[in-house]
Amino acid sequence: MFVQILGSAAGGGFPQWNCNCENCAGFRNGSLRAQARTQSSIAISDDGVNWVLCNTSPDIRAQLQSFAPMQPGRALRDTGISAIILMDSQIDHTTGLLMLREGCPHQVWCTDMVHEDLSTGFPLFNMLTHWNGGLSWNRIELDQSFSVPACPNLRFTPLPLRSAAPPYSPHRFDPHPGDNIGLIVEDLNTGGKLFYAPGLGKVDAPLLEIMAASDCLLVDGTLWDDDEMQRRGVGTRTGREMGHLAQNGPGGMLEVLEQLPTQRKVLIHINNTNPILDEDSPQRAELDRREVEVAYDGMSIVL
Ligand SMILES: [Zn+2]
Ligand SMILES: [Zn+2]
Repeated sequence: MFVQILGSAAGGGFPQWNCNCENCAGFRNGSLRAQARTQSSIAISDDGVNWVLCNTSPDIRAQLQSFAPMQPGRALRDTGISAIILMDSQIDHTTGLLMLREGCPHQVWCTDMVHEDLSTGFPLFNMLTHWNGGLSWNRIELDQSFSVPACPNLRFTPLPLRSAAPPYSPHRFDPHPGDNIGLIVEDLNTGGKLFYAPGLGKVDAPLLEIMAASDCLLVDGTLWDDDEMQRRGVGTRTGREMGHLAQNGPGGMLEVLEQLPTQRKVLIHINNTNPILDEDSPQRAELDRREVEVAYDGMSIVL
């Protein structure tokens, strides 16, 4: 299985266009050793030709341009995107569908809850019907694995994760299973197993067991500290309130990862405030010591 990191940042990207936090300002004035990052999306394939996009970020055009296999050029109009899986209905994970309108119809896999949000509060499914049929919905059942015709050797298993629905969701204050999922992706030929959860608020014992059985973890790297938005003076909400488990502190992501056997541990969906973006920071050194990687745009993983 080929896994391509198209975008490794959280919502807003890095640097965020209107942000002057230490990281964003430091990146702009050249005092910070760091890489720019686009908003969260990965592509997965079993043959390197047909790709499944997981999330479609507002940065999708630049992401496709930066990864040649996405434009195989077999016909006058062509794309390597064979299917799209949505992990939730957040703006930074779904808005790219609008930029893909010229290529409709697209096959989209998502849960009932995500489909509802994207048919009401943020009606992408309705709007895009005006472009050659728009989006064909394939329902993700929460208790069932599924496969995608274009990548028959991959088996996808959804994991409902506890998280809040976006502000425009009709059930914003009433969380449902399926608002946010993680994925286990298995390659039936190689046996490689990926665990992908860019929004992971809580890790309980059953989830820990699933993570332990995976060859590569691509997990929530949004925040270093739970109160990072306050510390940096750019917001009031905690990581916990946003459905993101911070890396640092008791019960944090680093402690979770510490319990797992040696395997690839990669943080993704990194917020622009996170000190791990600074390659010279003590926090980044701490990750190196723990052999925890930080995903970057253009990173390739083979499983
Ligand atoms: Zn996000
Ligand atoms: Zn910033």
